[in-house]
Amino acid sequence: MNWITVCGGGNGAHALIGTLLLQDETTHIRLYLPLEEERSRFADAISSYSKFEVQLAGEVHSVVSNRIHVTGDPEEAARSSIIIMVVPAFAHGAILSQLAPYLTKENTIAALPARSGLEYQAQDILGKVSQDGCVVVGFQTLPWACRTGEFGHSVTIHGTKKRVGAACLPAKEIGEKAKVFSTLLGMDVIPYRSMLELSLANTGQLIHPGIMYSVFRNRRTEIFPSEDEVPFFYASVDDKAAEFLSRMSDEVLTIKKVVEERLAGFKMPGVVHVSQWVNQAYGDKILDISSLATQFQTNRGYQTFKVPMKKSSGGYQIDVNTRYLTEDIPFGLLVTKGIASVVGVETPMIDEVITNTSAWIGKEYLIDGRLIGRDVMTTRAPQRYTIDSLEELIR
Ligand code: NAD
Repeated sequence: MNWITVCGGGNGAHALIGTLLLQDETTHIRLYLPLEEERSRFADAISSYSKFEVQLAGEVHSVVSNRIHVTGDPEEAARSSIIIMVVPAFAHGAILSQLAPYLTKENTIAALPARSGLEYQAQDILGKVSQDGCVVVGFQTLPWACRTGEFGHSVTIHGTKKRVGAACLPAKEIGEKAKVFSTLLGMDVIPYRSMLELSLANTGQLIHPGIMYSVFRNRRTEIFPSEDEVPFFYASVDDKAAEFLSRMSDEVLTIKKVVEERLAGFKMPGVVHVSQWVNQAYGDKILDISSLATQFQTNRGYQTFKVPMKKSSGGYQIDVNTRYLTEDIPFGLLVTKGIASVVGVETPMIDEVITNTSAWIGKEYLIDGRLIGRDVMTTRAPQRYTIDSLEELIR
């Protein structure tokens, strides 16, 4: 038997559980759910249904659900050599802290996806507690667009990326870990050379807050009478919004250039323009690749997604309390801003997005473009971990 621990019980965890079980019939899952209510709901679902189902491209694939073993015990969770956290970045800290006392160099703990700045947080938590250094793997993105069907029983995978990037702490382990995870996930895992590369290559930090701001900033109070009238998210990117995203991406490329110039031999080939990334990730799912706007508008992997919404009197309204802001700003764009500050790169477009969208969600990160807002300590900006030189960023 091949035991793998999955931490998380949301959409991504359902997709991962299904994928791992379908990939290899000797795999068993330790499903670590520290939240009690979620743990008992999952355990109930497993005992009610004998199958766990994955709907993929119109076909239903099923596996026996008694290969999933639910636990709330961190020591038991740490018994698997491979542990994968599939949770929003704001939950990484809690899970790392719970598992840290039981992790050894036999463990590999992965974050799928990592978002940005995982390296500083993992170092901070595991460095203090874990006995003898496990390997940390961060993935650039979740490989699937997916939604839980029936909790604990079924999941629909709407789209699968062609490949996914990953980096390691310590960096030298990535070659071997990329092979291991390619086999587990059944897709190409592209090795990145450093966690810094991974943090800067996080395109969700540009795409999600960038679209929320550039496309929807003047529509936040609008009432959409029915769900059908709520606008699409990615498909709403027009030329103006694409220009915005492109400029944010150019700022990240400037950070990359400055870092590479200052560190002889240090390269971050995975940090590419958002347009190149969309093409690489979605390939022939895009019907018209002629511009960044059409790459979003005609991307079949993106078509069904609406702007996050909430019910309001008279219909629906845009919901600003969405992961696109509550996760992608503190665990994404703000990390990039922090890295830019360390290396002395101006990021006016990114600053504009952070300053405005953080106000929508009642957070204060930047004051006059500086990382001194009251909520910086709840983010993974390197400054939160008192990292303020390029040498420390790399270390
Ligand atoms: P989700 O909201 O469905 O899952 C959240 C889960 O996180 C919860 O069910 C719980 O198990 C866990 N969790 C939350 N807070 C916790 C805490 N304090 N302690 C322990 N566990 C906690 O989210 P998801 O859709 O599975 O997304 C997971 C990650 O993948 C996020 O970073 C998301 O942005 C990213 N992502 C998701 C999709 C998708 O299609 N679902 C696509 C791209 C990226």
